[in-house]
Amino acid sequence: MTTKILIVEDESAIQELITYNLQQAGYETSKVENAEKAMKHVQNALPDLVLLDWMLPNMSGIEFARILRQDARTKMIPIIMLTARSEENDKIKGLEIGADDYITKPFSPRELIARINAVLRRRAPESADEAVEIDQLRLDPANHRVTVDDQEVILGPTEYRLLHFMMTHTDRVYSRGQLLDRVWGDHVFVEERTVDVHIRRLRKALQLVGKNDLIQTVRGSGYRLSTGFNTNQ
Ligand code: CA
Repeated sequence: MTTKILIVEDESAIQELITYNLQQAGYETSKVENAEKAMKHVQNALPDLVLLDWMLPNMSGIEFARILRQDARTKMIPIIMLTARSEENDKIKGLEIGADDYITKPFSPRELIARINAVLRRRAPESADEAVEIDQLRLDPANHRVTVDDQEVILGPTEYRLLHFMMTHTDRVYSRGQLLDRVWGDHVFVEERTVDVHIRRLRKALQLVGKNDLIQTVRGSGYRLSTGFNTNQ
C-alpha cells in the first residue's frame, strides 16, 4: 500500500516544496492550508502520517495535534511537527502532546524524508512482516503467500490485505467503516458494501481449504476473525 501523507501547511511555497519531494520519494500526498480542513480530511480518510505546521491561522498545529491524540480513531496517526521555532521549550511542548518528531524550518528534503521514514518504521507494528498462523492457516508477508499445510490459498490483493489485518487483529468485531479505514485506508469513494463483497470473496477462497468459518459475521456490527473455532454463527 502506498503511504499517504497529509501536509498541513499554510505557506504555499513550503507546501509545494514538500509535496514535490514526498511524491518524488514515492509517497502519496494531500495538502491543506489549515487545521479545520485537515480535520475534515482526517474524518474522511486516515492518513499514514501528518506533517503539521505549528503556526497555522485560527487553530494552531499544536491544538490540532492534541485533538488527533484525544480521539480513539486518530490517536495512533504519526505526527511530525514543522516549525520555524527553534527553541527547546517548543520542541518539548510538541513532543509532550504526542508529536512523534519535530523538524525546524528550514530543513532539507533529505532530512524530512529521513525523519518520515524513521517515524513510520518506529510506528509500524513489529508483527507487520512476521508470518501469522491461526488454525493451520498461515499468512507470510515475506512472500505474500497464504497456505494451509502446503496448499496455497489464492487471494486477490484486497482479500490478502483484509485477511492479514484480521489475522493480526483477532477476536474483535470490526465494523465495515473500521475495516475501510484500516484495510482500504481511504473510504471517501468506497461504499461500505464493498467490504461485504471482499469478505465474500475471501470466504470463498478459504472455503476451498475448509477455513471459511474463521471469519464470522456479527449481525448489525461487522466482522470478526475468531480464534475460538467451535462457535458457529
Ligand atoms: Ca505557518
